[in-house]
Amino acid sequence: WRDLSPVANPGERDDESSLRPRRLAEFVGQPRVREQLQLVLEGATRRGAPPDHVLLSGPPGLGKTSLAMIIAAELGRPIRITSGPALERAGDLAAMLSNLVDGEVMFIDEIHRIARPAEEMLYLAMEDFRVDVVVGKGPGATSIPLEIAPFTLVGATTRAGSLTGPLRDRFGFTAHMEFYAAEDLELVLRRSATILGIDLRPDGAAEIAGRSRGTPRIANRLLRRVRDYAEVRGDGSVDRETARAALKVYDVDELGLDRLDRAVLDALVRSFGGGPVGVATLAVAVGEETTTVEEVCEPYLVRAGMLARTPRGRVATALAWSHLGLTAPTDAPG
Ligand code: ADP
Repeated sequence: WRDLSPVANPGERDDESSLRPRRLAEFVGQPRVREQLQLVLEGATRRGAPPDHVLLSGPPGLGKTSLAMIIAAELGRPIRITSGPALERAGDLAAMLSNLVDGEVMFIDEIHRIARPAEEMLYLAMEDFRVDVVVGKGPGATSIPLEIAPFTLVGATTRAGSLTGPLRDRFGFTAHMEFYAAEDLELVLRRSATILGIDLRPDGAAEIAGRSRGTPRIANRLLRRVRDYAEVRGDGSVDRETARAALKVYDVDELGLDRLDRAVLDALVRSFGGGPVGVATLAVAVGEETTTVEEVCEPYLVRAGMLARTPRGRVATALAWSHLGLTAPTDAPG
């Protein structure tokens, strides 16, 4: 696993649960999403009905699971958590749906990976609070409609584009989560430091925030790594110098690039003259899976303005060349 992967590493989840914001007011950043969600929840509460189904869309580590839990907490309702890949058989989903209590929140992470039969069952459940249970097999099979409790589905996806139209249409509200500004990540870090009892100085927070790729999960992870360093090699307090020295040990550079990101840029620039080159070829060159390069490295390299995705392949920008200490050719995109 990698320090800069936005996906939770195994074993990291306990730490995460202590750092998770519990209420909307504690949720840092994403002002638009917070305001929109606040209205959706308050409107529903006033009407005494469950709110519309909510789709949370955005890259991993930005707080989708946290928000789903917050929605349940704000509504004062229980939450049941599952994921698209876990719902391979429609029967599993039918069992979950028929066990829901009134107003419960059902959270389906990675909802774009849900199997087709389960997805079709979800349409009816979302629309009419009903499931059709098929009894028997072959020509004698009958389907029995079963009423389920009104509930709110919260779906999370890192790929809103791969959701089918009919599924997307059944969500009343979609929240688009954006990468966090550095100031917001500083707030996330300060909050986490207080919870974990870390003496985090403002310049230390700024240093870590700037290298966290706009992602709270990564900010919290880097904070834990820097704390180790501060406790072992320093007096425990985290200032700019300590953060810099610690992150050097972990190969995280000033822009938050790690070894794999730099390998990708390096291959793109040195082996392929800056591109264009296909992502699969690039992945082979750095010895990684295509999906890792595509879903973990590229989103941030694109956002940081170092890599451009073009119809003909990936291209290094002038910034990528200069970040590697090289002079960009005149036709490199700016
Ligand atoms: P996702 O489901 O999008 O992958 P999570 O909700 O699991 O993201 O968030 C990952 C971690 O990042 C959480 O445990 C939490 O500590 C932290 N986090 C995410 N968003 C925020 C936020 N807005 N404020 C404070 N901490 C956050």
